[in-house]
Amino acid sequence: MPEHHLNPDMHLDYKEFVRYNRHVMTNGIGEEGQLAIKSSHVLIIGLGGLGCPASQYLTASGVGTITLIDHDIIESSNLQRQVLFTEQDIGEQKVDIAQLRLQRLNPLIKVNGITKSILNINLSELLNDVDVVLDCTDNATTRHFINATCVKNKVKLVSASAIQSQGQLISFDFASPDSPCYQCVFPSADNQDLNCSTSGVFSPVLGVLGSLQATEALRLILGKTNNLNTLSLFDAWGMAFKRFKVTKDPKCICCH
Ligand SMILES: [Zn+2]
Repeated sequence: MPEHHLNPDMHLDYKEFVRYNRHVMTNGIGEEGQLAIKSSHVLIIGLGGLGCPASQYLTASGVGTITLIDHDIIESSNLQRQVLFTEQDIGEQKVDIAQLRLQRLNPLIKVNGITKSILNINLSELLNDVDVVLDCTDNATTRHFINATCVKNKVKLVSASAIQSQGQLISFDFASPDSPCYQCVFPSADNQDLNCSTSGVFSPVLGVLGSLQATEALRLILGKTNNLNTLSLFDAWGMAFKRFKVTKDPKCICCH
């Protein structure tokens, strides 16, 4: 487990051992992997259709610290895809409800909540002790901002988005000097602001992509880096994945 220099005398306690037993029995995880997951801090930006399933799987999986950021309140039109929330939660802050539900799902971990726009916090400072950032936001401006801040702070980024029947996923490890960035792949923030509030999206596509973000975050925590710098595209109507390797753009103003 290259990510965390764990004390070899460290073990899961009895409660953890029982709760995470199916991980302990999984090839590629084991007790050592579960300890790495326990020692990690994942930041989830956006609690929409991607952030809801991603946060549920990371919570259930035992990520030791999870920080949630979102400034929105829950609306009726969110419930078609934002599976953490119920009819009774309409009008409440997403962060408050998500924090409550996730902390109940797994009291052995710490769930932090920040009810602010990502553009109104000191993200660089927050990234100091974060291992992986999940970009679960739904517009190009915040995606480029999150990318630039992760590049600057050399923090791993797992970015996803979904629209209509399609979703995309890509992850980067900016500690590597050869790593491309989100802006290398999607150079301009202009004309990309088709998002879920202005366009339709097929609900379970967000479940697929949010679960893939959680999968990729845990894979990175476990040291599995073979999916970095690969753009995966999923189409629900064709029920198919396409994958493209991406490389650093030498002219990219963000990561040159
Ligand atoms: Zn770049």
